[in-house]
Amino acid sequence: MALYDFHTHTTLSDGVLSPVELIRRAIVRGYTALGMSDHCGRGGLTRIIGEATADCALAAEYWDFPVFAGVELTHVPTRSIPRLAAEAKAAGAAYVVVHGESPVEPVEPGTNLAAASCPDVDILAHPGLLDDETALAAAANGVFVEVTARPGHNTGNGRVVTVARRHGARLILSSDSHAPGDLLTPDFAHTVLLGAGLSDDEIAQVEAHGREMLERCKARVQY
Ligand SMILES: [Zn+2]
Ligand SMILES: [Zn+2]
Repeated sequence: MALYDFHTHTTLSDGVLSPVELIRRAIVRGYTALGMSDHCGRGGLTRIIGEATADCALAAEYWDFPVFAGVELTHVPTRSIPRLAAEAKAAGAAYVVVHGESPVEPVEPGTNLAAASCPDVDILAHPGLLDDETALAAAANGVFVEVTARPGHNTGNGRVVTVARRHGARLILSSDSHAPGDLLTPDFAHTVLLGAGLSDDEIAQVEAHGREMLERCKARVQY
């Protein structure tokens, strides 16, 4: 399967690779497209988007590789999410991820619903115990719901798939890479999706949703 992965981290937050090295390693892995989404609150938004975008532009120019800079709004106050998502887009982010209510972190309750209700959000990451209201909102607002390859966060994948399927919320796969070994391979991507309970048809849809994220980014940012 083609590898689309819009949730990864670099030294701009808590990843171990610089943006341009992450890009290089994704190309070597055979990625079709990459997004870098470093952890942000409000203070770092403009700096992080600017620095990541500069390396994306470099890779696009010299390697002809589609890579885009987003952000992952992480542990921010729930009620600030619409404002921060709009500020990120205004600062040049190609897309916005929200760090959802992972079963393994004390994310503020209500974060999942706030993210799914915000049209400026593109991906609700690792939502954990996804509920019906959130899945309905995600479907209505075009917010992709993440199936994650990340250990710990992935304890919610089964529930995420079940509830998303019930309400037509659209799923996307991410690695949430922090180190080079976290990047996806076609085999591992397929295994994560099968393990989360998806059928072959649903896996093909996840791949199509990755393509759609790429088209969204291209429409928003030109280098
Ligand atoms: Zn996260
Ligand atoms: Zn992350």
